[in-house]
Amino acid sequence: MSSSASAPARPKPRIANQLIVYDFDWSLADQDTDRWVLEVLAPALRRRMKSLKATGTVQYTDLVAQMMRELRALGHTKAEVLDALKGMPFHPAMRRAVLEMKHRAEPSTDFLVLSNANSVYIGTILAHQGLERVMQEVITNPAEWSKEDPELLVVRRRVPPEGRQHGCTVGCSANMCKGEELTNFLARHGKPFDRMVYVGDGANDFCPILRLREQDLALVRRHRGLEARIAKDGASAGLKCQVQYWTGAWEVEEIFATLT
Ligand SMILES: [Mg+2]
Ligand SMILES: [Zn+2]
Repeated sequence: MSSSASAPARPKPRIANQLIVYDFDWSLADQDTDRWVLEVLAPALRRRMKSLKATGTVQYTDLVAQMMRELRALGHTKAEVLDALKGMPFHPAMRRAVLEMKHRAEPSTDFLVLSNANSVYIGTILAHQGLERVMQEVITNPAEWSKEDPELLVVRRRVPPEGRQHGCTVGCSANMCKGEELTNFLARHGKPFDRMVYVGDGANDFCPILRLREQDLALVRRHRGLEARIAKDGASAGLKCQVQYWTGAWEVEEIFATLT
């Protein structure tokens, strides 16, 4: 085959195995779990969360934990929280995209969820959407229903405030460095992936995508923090991966179909 001047004749490397990493809120799911639960059950607390966050004095995961205690103090129950989560927007095209990719013989795909939400929120929604078994691992903040009060959700930081803190200089919140978590996951997994794809939207997804290679792909949701952070710091921080933008989940489904 002859090569033209415009298209270098470089054979496309075969992709036998790939890892697809999903941020959860506004990426895999079409809403933000922490805020949604409050919007559904106690809008005044949703407003209070926004005001407290704006003060910048409370770490985000601690703030969510506090909101859950206040939600409980207002009399709200575990069943109400679970119902709110099951009713949270989740785009059918995103669900289809994941299942279709998982069922493809080649490339073989491992899925990882890497999220600043919590294990109960994510576990509830994944189970409700029939995606629980598709995910190799869910890396997030630990949460559990309290032993003393089974109606209270206790949310803790992935990296506890006592003990060694992560050394991230990119801007991850104290509860978790998503970049470090991705690196640790890859080390645990052992064998390398021919391609990694990261689906994200938030400013805190910038750190993990800095760890992607040239053959990897970041699927970045438009009009949110990650797009702005890439525009501001992508070049100076040495972002190496390819970047494709999307707005609706149906576009991710389209892009997945091209990932042969
Ligand atoms: Mg997000
Ligand atoms: Zn980080």
